[in-house]
Amino acid sequence: MTLACCGLGVAGSRAIALGPAYLLERGLPAVAPRRIRTEEVAAEVQRVEEALQSAAAALRAVRAQIPPSTPVKVAEFIDSHLLMLEDSALVDPALELIRAELFGAEWALQEHRNRLIEVFEQMDDPYLRSRRDDVDHVIHHLLKFLLGEAEHPAQAGDDLSGRVVVARDLSPADLIVLRQRGASAFVTEFGGPMSHTAILARGLNVPAVMGVHNATRYLRSGELIVVDGETGTVLADADERILAHYRRRLDAIEARRTGLKRLIGQPSVSADGIPVALLANLELPEDAALARANGAEGVGLYRTEFLYMNREGLPDEEEHLAAYLEMIHALGGVPITIRTLDLGVDKQVDGGAGPCAPVCNPALGLRAIRLCLKEPELFRPQIRAILRASVMGPVRLMIPMLSGIAELNSVLAMIEQIRRELTREGLPFDPHLPIGAMIEVPAAALSAVAFARRVDFLSIGTNDLIQYTLAIDRVDDTVNYLYDPLHPAILRLIRMTIEAGRACGKPVAMCGEMAGDPRFTRLLLGLGLRELSMQPGSLLEVKDLVRGSRIAELEQATCALFARLDDEEPERLLEAINRIGA
Ligand code: PEP
Ligand code: MG
Repeated sequence: MTLACCGLGVAGSRAIALGPAYLLERGLPAVAPRRIRTEEVAAEVQRVEEALQSAAAALRAVRAQIPPSTPVKVAEFIDSHLLMLEDSALVDPALELIRAELFGAEWALQEHRNRLIEVFEQMDDPYLRSRRDDVDHVIHHLLKFLLGEAEHPAQAGDDLSGRVVVARDLSPADLIVLRQRGASAFVTEFGGPMSHTAILARGLNVPAVMGVHNATRYLRSGELIVVDGETGTVLADADERILAHYRRRLDAIEARRTGLKRLIGQPSVSADGIPVALLANLELPEDAALARANGAEGVGLYRTEFLYMNREGLPDEEEHLAAYLEMIHALGGVPITIRTLDLGVDKQVDGGAGPCAPVCNPALGLRAIRLCLKEPELFRPQIRAILRASVMGPVRLMIPMLSGIAELNSVLAMIEQIRRELTREGLPFDPHLPIGAMIEVPAAALSAVAFARRVDFLSIGTNDLIQYTLAIDRVDDTVNYLYDPLHPAILRLIRMTIEAGRACGKPVAMCGEMAGDPRFTRLLLGLGLRELSMQPGSLLEVKDLVRGSRIAELEQATCALFARLDDEEPERLLEAINRIGA
């Protein structure tokens, strides 16, 4: 086997492709510092305004090219960039640099971009932090117009049918245009799995690997490359044997995808008759359609952060309520678990709530429930709205990032107080609204019994549980390689949480990414989980595994795995479990 190049990145989308590379030159244009004279200020400001108009017109043209069959979300990505272009916060500080400091337009814009990026880089929440890419894409787009290099790189001539686009960075607009020109996959040097471009690639089921450092330096246009979105690997100069292996895998994936459709509408019950609830993780109301199409039995994690984004001020109670009712309606009666706000520490929510002092280690800072308890005006409207929504459909409330019982007690006391308020105001709510605690901090897993006694259900958030247990920042691509769901410490914390739930007679779900990864399905069933919440696209794959498993056997095999956990590689032990019934 000869491999001239093997690049590792992160899976932006888990599909696989094989094709000739197409290198796209696309970096931030080089901008030299340039001062202007006072009498040139008006003309320079005018240039920025004209560039803004042309940049918006070009984006609208891209939007108009989106075929009607494309998911709604795609247009929204472009809309969000258009909104950013129209937002005065994007250019006003740059105009101020032109007026007050006599910076040339391009330099002012670049300087403003650098300051914004610095703020974004410090953010803890991966979703918010990845919005940095959006700022970069929009300002880059604008700079091109200022510099007179307005042709969208993705729009220039070549037919890209079957080609793998390799670029430093790609905006959602690039991805759409390139996809329409036939590109079959994407490799970028920058960006992570939470970037808009990665989310879009997943939504479109286009293979993408992001964060492959120096990809544009080492890959050559025209050479055959393999993009393995499952492992986050890019292979160049692979020999015939490897290529044949990937061709077979591609055929198998296609056949499998078609075959899985037969499971839509079939019950999620194991071969020995045990029901396993398969639910969806959602963010936007339109995700509900995908969840339903894939037969989700409910929503195990509805992330509500999007309600606070891309806007001035905080959402009020009525807005929360409207969003929840829309989701309840779109889901057609299946249960929905609304997770309360999980904003990161350094996010200064427009409208003034939230802390603003920069901190050294935001992942360990004032995040999620900590922030909500400190800033009740951020939290109370949401709790009121969730309670009010509870009479309109089967709603559950879930609290993220709890680390101690005192925190949980404070939240429960606040909910109780709000219940009394609503009663006084004559506003109906379900007095039995189930309340759950997310177990995503090691301290919470270790005290899971205490949490389980006080709430109606637990849900394990493995994304954070892994981050905090293994001390690796989940958005730092330099330590991503340590992110290991099979680490014995993680497996023990998961088991401990499940046992705590069992001892207290409370259900335990899992809603981190691990729950939707088919490699772990049998292990999780063997551990005793009976509710898994995941990206809607994984539901059928996991259902197939559930239906093919005899859970009693998996439980025995999982006990055996734990007995050998300190002696053998967990991956090998997992392989043994996955062979059962396979
Ligand atoms: C988790 O941490 O596993 C989780 C589901 O929450 P989020 O990814 O939104 O932090
Ligand atoms: Mg989490």
